[in-house]
Amino acid sequence: MAYKIVITCDRTMASDYHGLIFFGFSACLPSGTLPDWLYYPLFCPSGKHDSEGRLLYANCGMRKIEAALLADGFSRNDIVVAHPDCLDKVIGPETEIVSISANDPLGIGPATSTYSELWGGEGRMAIMLRRLLRDPAIRKYRPFVVLGGPGAWQVSVNPEKRRQLGIDCVFVGEGEVSGPKLFRRILDNGRKDIPEVVTGEPVPVERIPDIVGGTTIGIIEATRGCARSCAFCVPSVRKVRSRRLENILREVQVNMDEGNTGVILHGEDVLLYRSDGLKVNGDAVVEMFERVYTAPGVQFVGASHAALSSAVSSPQTIERLARVLELGTDKNPVNYFQVGIETASPKLIGRHMKGKVYPFEPEQWPQVVKDGFKLFNDNHFVGCATIIMGLPGEEREDIEQTVELVKSLRPYQSLMVPLLFSPLQTTRLEYSAALKKKDLTPQHHELITACWDHNFAWFPPMWVNYGRNKNPLLRTAMRLVLTHGARLVKYRIHRDARRHGARV
Ligand code: SF4
Repeated sequence: MAYKIVITCDRTMASDYHGLIFFGFSACLPSGTLPDWLYYPLFCPSGKHDSEGRLLYANCGMRKIEAALLADGFSRNDIVVAHPDCLDKVIGPETEIVSISANDPLGIGPATSTYSELWGGEGRMAIMLRRLLRDPAIRKYRPFVVLGGPGAWQVSVNPEKRRQLGIDCVFVGEGEVSGPKLFRRILDNGRKDIPEVVTGEPVPVERIPDIVGGTTIGIIEATRGCARSCAFCVPSVRKVRSRRLENILREVQVNMDEGNTGVILHGEDVLLYRSDGLKVNGDAVVEMFERVYTAPGVQFVGASHAALSSAVSSPQTIERLARVLELGTDKNPVNYFQVGIETASPKLIGRHMKGKVYPFEPEQWPQVVKDGFKLFNDNHFVGCATIIMGLPGEEREDIEQTVELVKSLRPYQSLMVPLLFSPLQTTRLEYSAALKKKDLTPQHHELITACWDHNFAWFPPMWVNYGRNKNPLLRTAMRLVLTHGARLVKYRIHRDARRHGARV
């Protein structure tokens, strides 16, 4: 059956990643690092869909657009959230709009560009977006193509690419209010006079609709935006909103009804749920996790991001969360947070991300990071941290301080992801220079090596818990990749570092 509006995504986003959210980040590994025959079954198996092509679990942003269109009066028969491999089933002569959600459409996001720059190859998300746009059904029926999602800014500033790709309109920003207006305009005006780039207005929290279908790994939005305002980050330009617990619980129910068994609460700093500015509201955070965890059918509750400064400023909230989520037990041995370290340099913190460390001072940041990792470790949380190299104003001693900090965190089960600074449009650093491979200093190589040595030491023990409920074949394959494959990568990283004069 063909639909008037088809909501879809590239193939790297149409997966449940074996239920392991960190596997989703593997889409940032460029095409040259892992062959497709290994990458797709191991990290990104095809998402489930029904016989008519409807995705069972979709990215949260796609579900929000679906819900916003329904709330705006579109009928269920007008809209489908479709698997990208099934477009022939849902696109036909009556299809007017194909709305594509993209995380990294040109492969120039910070993680993808880091690893393409270091290891060669092209971002998988860019490759698969091109493939999607060349789908025979899109070519045959020529619907109006709208591209949105977190990576849409990449195409919005690159009109030549937009035309080459065959994208009619790029939608940047939040979609629940402006998206339905745009779609109605396209339908009513016969596609005429539609701007090439449309910017969505911020959505008041009461107008963020509840999703009506299952999301990938049960991801549910708890908060939107971030008040910490780091100069390099896109959410820094967003208003912070905490969703009502009733709405969150309704979305938990939708996910359980669709067969999910757990939930990931998403927020740029989930510990700031219903906070007073940047002051943690521990009772509200704990209540949210407890109510979600005790909802019928829920077996686990994870979170996406948390700020180390929030955790260290309210250690009792972390301790209470560990008790509520029964961490350290056979049922739930550990839980995970993505965190941002970025740098150990108080100078760079003070210049670019004072809000990240609030209520602490930039000079306290290295100690806050150490205290945060110890707090996580004592309470069975594992941090997955980003480090940014090449921030504007970075000098040799800033990098050396970060190397020392990373080495001091070795006792704590965690991951360190080093990234090359890459300026994002709409951020305060959008006109700063990106760090390129040719500009890497011996100290940068020492930092990359310190991070990956840390990761290689922790991958195998982490996998014991992380993959514990997965099928034996996946467990064994990943164990082999994480031990033998990692050895090869480690050799390559050390060799590159020595060639560039690093002391490793
Ligand atoms: S704390 Fe994280 S999400 Fe918030 S502005 Fe900084 S980098 Fe962005």
